[in-house]
Amino acid sequence: MESSKVYDVVIVGAGTGGCSTALFTAKNGLKVCIVDVKKEEDIGRKVCGDAIGRHHFDNLSLPYPWNAIINEVKGMRIYSPSRSTVFEIVGEGVSGFMLKRYEFGQILLKEALRRGVELYDSTRVLKPIIDGRRVVGVTAKHMDGSIEFRGRVIVDASGATAVLRRCLPEGFLPERDVKPEDIQATYREIRLIEGEYYDYNYGEIYLSRVYAPGGYAWLFPRSDGTANIGVGVQCGRGYPNPKMLFYKFLYTVKGVSEDIINSGGGLVPTRRPLSSLVADGLILVGDSACQVNPIHGGGIGPSMYAGRLAAEAILEAYDRGSMTARDLWMYNVRYMRSYGAKQASLDVLRMFLQSLSDEDIDYGMSVRLLSEEDILKASMYGRVEAGFLEKLKRFAKGLGRIELLRKFRRAVKIMHEVRKLYEEYPVDVDGFREWLYKSKRIFIEVTVKTFINA
Ligand SMILES: Cc1cc2nc3c(=O)[nH]c(=O)nc-3n(C[C@H](O)[C@H](O)[C@H](O)COP(=O)(O)OP(=O)(O)OC[C@H]3O[C@@H](n4cnc5c(N)ncnc54)[C@H](O)[C@@H]3O)c2cc1C
Repeated sequence: MESSKVYDVVIVGAGTGGCSTALFTAKNGLKVCIVDVKKEEDIGRKVCGDAIGRHHFDNLSLPYPWNAIINEVKGMRIYSPSRSTVFEIVGEGVSGFMLKRYEFGQILLKEALRRGVELYDSTRVLKPIIDGRRVVGVTAKHMDGSIEFRGRVIVDASGATAVLRRCLPEGFLPERDVKPEDIQATYREIRLIEGEYYDYNYGEIYLSRVYAPGGYAWLFPRSDGTANIGVGVQCGRGYPNPKMLFYKFLYTVKGVSEDIINSGGGLVPTRRPLSSLVADGLILVGDSACQVNPIHGGGIGPSMYAGRLAAEAILEAYDRGSMTARDLWMYNVRYMRSYGAKQASLDVLRMFLQSLSDEDIDYGMSVRLLSEEDILKASMYGRVEAGFLEKLKRFAKGLGRIELLRKFRRAVKIMHEVRKLYEEYPVDVDGFREWLYKSKRIFIEVTVKTFINA
């Protein structure tokens, strides 16, 4: 049986990105629906590290979701590859919460439904419906048959699978696919832990090319006696699969029980945002738009922030009566000039870090090439100041690490350039071609040559 539904806004995906877009859009009276492949009672079940910074709620003026919080977290401990140096990072930007991820997802969903959003659960979206140069709907499959959803604007919030983005015809968006090197393959388990070894005020991050090449291993202890433990590995480089590396890593930490409470894997895009997040009739939000922090892989907060910005742009375009890329462009401008600029700058730092050996990282951490304070600033603002490098030059010379310093200084310079570029994202679509050219030049010619092929 085939049926057709018509809405103002059709959102594909009821994750944190989709639900946030829905609830910020629906409160203004638009007819909005969310379509998700999961059953309603499974929405919110997501393999995740479950950590979120407090500032994400503050920035959106949202109350802390106490019913979905296991415990508060003061900061992070970062272990160097040899574990001889441990950074304790505390402060705004790293303090936050360990979430009950399922409950949190359900809270967001229920809030959207309370505001009048309609949910089509157990419904798999297959592809976009294109009319000329415009996305006008999606085709989907439900156990009762095929359904077509038509909308004035369609939101791809389908996570890393990006079901709509990846099915667009050539030329709709500057990037349709994401390079494997810009994706992390992850595996994580929830296990009981022995409390005396761990302090749930701190998440633990382990840098190591042995257990997590191009990513990191984490162990986030929680006040309920469990820990969220996982590894993220850069794709596209022939590294072993994350589940295998996870078990290797597990041998190196103490006090973790044999019993697995929950396990699973997933993909996380860890790069700068896609160059444009809009096309005619289409908006991308969350992982489908690559809005994850490239350094730590946190994407819950950014997807909620993006959801609000997307909703604002949709409401403004709705009032004007048109949903072309030009009408939706302010979403690009607001996102790129704020979180996008930080993300793009951190993407350069990510590539620099991925190009280092474990010995380089051990050395860099031991001499505070990047200190705890620098990391805090980088994580909060996406900025690293180069001035302190001068002080370190003499240490580095003596130890034959001048090449590492040179590379780092170059990375810091490119981070500044990239940040500026994103802060000057064109205010309308007419300036985009030139901006895109500059962006490609920096990322392909400079960054790749500097870090990947260096
Ligand atoms: C192992 C791991 C650990 C992580 N740790 C953290 C962390 O500690 N903190 C943090 O902030 N972030 C973390 N992240 C990232 C974070 O989970 C995501 O960035 C965030 O959930 C993005 O939300 P989203 O709404 O874009 O996508 P998702 O949450 O993935 O939601 C997408 C939704 O779309 C639905 N969907 C997909 N395809 C279809 C289709 N064809 N038809 C209909 N529905 C569809 C899915 O069912 C899902 O409900 C982690 C990710 C992983 C994999």
